[in-house]
Amino acid sequence: MMNLEYLTEKVLDRDVITKEEALFLYSRPLEPLCKSADKIRRYFCSEQFDLCTIINAKSGGCPENCRFCTQSSHSRTQAECYPLLSAERIVAQAKKNQEQGVLRYSIVTSGKCLSDREIDQLCEAIRQIKKKSGFPSVFPSVF
Ligand code: SF4
Repeated sequence: MMNLEYLTEKVLDRDVITKEEALFLYSRPLEPLCKSADKIRRYFCSEQFDLCTIINAKSGGCPENCRFCTQSSHSRTQAECYPLLSAERIVAQAKKNQEQGVLRYSIVTSGKCLSDREIDQLCEAIRQIKKKSGFPSVFPSVF
């Protein structure tokens, strides 16, 4: 029989819930759902968590019109607009974050794609981050 206790144990046994079971959970009251989620979190993650952070390395001015996005030039928000940050600035922020215990650092940029020059600039930043900061992982991504 499907109930919250059964589904909690199913997840703790590393089984995967079905679409019907997910829909059942969706209709449950929030408090018992949170208790089950916390039980699962404690079982799999204990009290430990990792810190990760991003830098917005290029902001705004995107000609696309994704309605949710403040980086679009069509957006009416007052989001900052600036070109790709220098490698030095991206590296300095990585080092600062690492000194504060952050384990993962992602570089995000606005727009559909980067120019060859921007990619070269980012590659240089990533090379320096790997060399100077010892970050285990750096994730460049176009936002
Ligand atoms: S930055 Fe990306 S998500 Fe935002 S408007 Fe441009 S293409 Fe769309």
